[in-house]
Amino acid sequence: MIPSLPTSPNVNRPFVSHAPGHWPEATQEEWNDWRWQLKNRVSTLEGLEKRLRLSSEERAGVILSAHKLAMSITPHYFNLIELDDPDGPIRRQVIPRLEESHHHPSEVADPCGEDAHMPVPGLVHRYPDRVNFLITDRCASYCRYCTRSRVVSGAGEQELHTEFEQAFDYLQKHDEVRDVLLSGGDPLLFSDDKLEKILSRLRAIPHIEFLRIGTRVPIFLPQRITPALCQMLQKYHPLWMSVHTNHPCELTIEVREALERLANHGIPIGNQSVLLSKVNDSIPVMKSLIQKLLQCRVRPYYLYQCDLIYGSAHLRTSVAKGIEIMEGLRGHTTGYAIPQFVIDAPGGGGKVPINPNYLISHDKEKVVLRNYEGKLFEYPEIS
Ligand SMILES: *Cc1c(COP(=O)(O)O)cnc(C)c1O
Repeated sequence: MIPSLPTSPNVNRPFVSHAPGHWPEATQEEWNDWRWQLKNRVSTLEGLEKRLRLSSEERAGVILSAHKLAMSITPHYFNLIELDDPDGPIRRQVIPRLEESHHHPSEVADPCGEDAHMPVPGLVHRYPDRVNFLITDRCASYCRYCTRSRVVSGAGEQELHTEFEQAFDYLQKHDEVRDVLLSGGDPLLFSDDKLEKILSRLRAIPHIEFLRIGTRVPIFLPQRITPALCQMLQKYHPLWMSVHTNHPCELTIEVREALERLANHGIPIGNQSVLLSKVNDSIPVMKSLIQKLLQCRVRPYYLYQCDLIYGSAHLRTSVAKGIEIMEGLRGHTTGYAIPQFVIDAPGGGGKVPINPNYLISHDKEKVVLRNYEGKLFEYPEIS
């Protein structure tokens, strides 16, 4: 047993480092090099079995993943995997399982109806003032519940063919677009130069006010958040970032340092979590996560009900569970830590907020409210 590796679930969840864990032979220079991390990702059955005892469901899942959504796990993230718990919260996010081949009748390849909302290949324009620009199909590691698994990783049948020049042209002509979200895949896998070319093209369009990058790189590959990257990004302000963290154990010392570096360069950071069965579907886990995020200067933004992507039933929870968790957070910790629970409406309706009901009744005279302790209060209505 390697002493720095995680064992059973950690109740206090302090910020810890697990480096170099399974890679004692790596020099510090190699370990801190994001390209070394990418080159040494665990992406084969042999690589996995060298380090972990797999369950039969996992073994079958890994074999099947070669033709669906690839498996790929950075050494940094691999070290967070629970060795002794095949149902561990880190493990379930990145190691494929046989259940991924089960297709529930409500599941589809494109749960958010994105393909039908692309005026240009790779550019999703659903809302009036903002677009989601899918600039790459690659990630540092692949989340097993990926909403874009139909095009991401290169293992499946469909491919993402982003038309960059057409997209810039579209954005230039559509002056109602004031907000561009770069996503994919993970934009931070591009080199600094390649990413800067895209950011500068967008900044040259006068009506684009607000840039965002959606990324899980600070979590999967914190080594990528170099001072040079941060210095490049800060030239394109206002630039915000949405990261994706699901479990407090993902917030290691290295991740905290990467997030702080981004924040120190003036980048406001929000977090998007996906509610996942046996990963974060409990109030104590979610509370620990959001409180740790504030310590990293990250504001919890959205909590997503898991999309109806093919083969995700074993990771989905009930909507009621999400509402119960939101009730367990609101009032019990600061509002800054509370994300908005949303369902991305199947078929392309966009994000719909889902809230516990605190408004007991509402008529011409008054509203009756329920607070976080369940006590009732009245407030007069103006007729
Ligand atoms: C989520 C999403 C956005 C961004 O929505 P915000 O609520 O502004 O974070 C934009 N376009 C598409 C298609 C999206 O799915």
